Amino acid sequence: MTTLSFEFFPTKTDEGTGNLLKVRDELAPFNPEFFSVTYGAGGSTRDRTFAIVKAIQERGIAAAPHLSCVGDSKTDLRDLLTRYKELGINRIVTLRGDLPSGSGLASSELRYANELVEFIREETGDHFTLEVAAYPEMHPQATSFEKDLQNFVRKVKAGADSAITQYFFNADSYFHFVDRVRAMGVDIPIIPGIMPITNYSKLARFSDSCGAEIPRWIRKQLEAYGDDSDSIVKFGEEVVTDMCRRLLDGGAPGLHFYTLNQSKPSLAVWKNLI
Ligand code: FAD
Repeated sequence: MTTLSFEFFPTKTDEGTGNLLKVRDELAPFNPEFFSVTYGAGGSTRDRTFAIVKAIQERGIAAAPHLSCVGDSKTDLRDLLTRYKELGINRIVTLRGDLPSGSGLASSELRYANELVEFIREETGDHFTLEVAAYPEMHPQATSFEKDLQNFVRKVKAGADSAITQYFFNADSYFHFVDRVRAMGVDIPIIPGIMPITNYSKLARFSDSCGAEIPRWIRKQLEAYGDDSDSIVKFGEEVVTDMCRRLLDGGAPGLHFYTLNQSKPSLAVWKNLI
């Protein structure tokens, strides 16, 4: 069975939250396994992430908070885990996180995602299903692809149940990554993270910072559309749908959509697939 999940980021205002819950209601009929909600590293969205997770969970479909360790103390993390348990949450997307300044890593009690996975297992046993991040095109700060794979395996051995990838636009990078980690003994599901294409300049900026490559032929076509956003959306939908089809045909166990708090772009792709 193909799994489906959607990712949100926490909104800043009550109006934003109201809109987000509408988006959640538009996506819910497609029976996602969970809605995940991102977390600002260092706890910058701690209360907002919690509030959105609570609102989603109370409306009946499982919510999965993201939790990052860099810049958060063990006491803060323990407290959040307790609150999430009390709320009935049973899945966490477990991350290192990125502090905006890049500082904080050396002084953090937990410095890498594998340490957070270990910590959550020590504190809460098997209560939570733990998702971790995977990077088919290599994490931008990794010293080599090989080391990054080893570090991924470390997270899995620490007790991760499943992985969600950084987004990519090249299905072969996903298949290569999966083949490599399977050969290293990893057998957990690795779910492709899917970024719908709706706005070229934002996508290009974000992709630069997170190390996701936009293939030249896609970039050039998007650039050529200029301000013609209808053509960008149409082309983006085709490209992403084709890639998702290839991923699912090639054995990907499901899809996780980076919704950017909108239902339409993700649903357009998903509806083409079902
Ligand atoms: P790690 O797995 O710890 O890896 C980070 C880097 O360190 C890699 O280069 C790795 O090779 C290396 N490394 C790992 N372990 C070790 C070790 N033990 N010793 C030495 N080197 C090591 N960010 C947020 O702030 N909030 C979010 O909600 C959020 N959600 C995300 C969801 C997904 C699905 C993905 C793919 C990313 C998300 N991110 C989020 C971004 C993520 O926090 C950054 O990519 C961050 O830089 C790395 O996080 P990680 O959990 O992959 O780190």
